[in-house]
Amino acid sequence: EKMMIFRQLFEPISSTYTYLLGCEQSGQALLIDPVLPMWQRDLALLNELGLTLAYTLDTHIHADHVTAALRLKRETGSQIACSAVDALPCTDVALREGVPLQMGSVCIDPLFTPGHTDGHLAFLAGERVFTGDALLIDGCGRTDFQNGNAQDLFHSVREKLFTLPDDTLVYPGHDYHERRVSNIAQEKIRNPRLGGDKSLAEFIEIMANLNLAYPKFIDYAVPSNRACGVCAQEIPEDLQQYCDQITDSVQG
Ligand code: FE
Repeated sequence: EKMMIFRQLFEPISSTYTYLLGCEQSGQALLIDPVLPMWQRDLALLNELGLTLAYTLDTHIHADHVTAALRLKRETGSQIACSAVDALPCTDVALREGVPLQMGSVCIDPLFTPGHTDGHLAFLAGERVFTGDALLIDGCGRTDFQNGNAQDLFHSVREKLFTLPDDTLVYPGHDYHERRVSNIAQEKIRNPRLGGDKSLAEFIEIMANLNLAYPKFIDYAVPSNRACGVCAQEIPEDLQQYCDQITDSVQG
């Protein structure tokens, strides 16, 4: 049996999960949603596992952290993959639903799941689905920025993610309560926004009344991520932890 190497990694500032998928036969790996200040941790893990980074994939243009895609490309020659809808000039591979990305024995099926952003992708890899911010455990990403749209998100989740096999493991883009994994059956039953018999009208109502604060990092994160992870120069001091590259020059 073909074995996929798999690791779930956490970045505490933005509560982002990064996923490492590796192919034992080819020795190649990919990272889903790597976070800039963690690039050395991620490379150390790849090294420890004896894997070479072939691709970085981002589920969407993030508003709450900066992708490590470009940094990792510079270090390893990895290719940057993102949604074809976003068509970022800094990417090497444009991902679209219906066109699998094959890396050795690892196969990724992009699922076009707009609503959190208009270009959002989830990634199906066998019995696991990496849902980005379209579907979180007992939740979902907000829909009030980046051409987000509650109706689109409802359809993405109900018609594309909830039609996957019940036992498909759901690995979210974030979790703020230390939960790590769910599955499709559980989200279909329990998800308080999208599960059960919630209607589209009810979901739109819920999303319109979240009263969430303006995202404190969005004005820096989005342009940084549209450049595949180039941090803005004029970043305020209290936000520098998102771009922090102090570990660039390892001391001692
Ligand atoms: Fe997001």
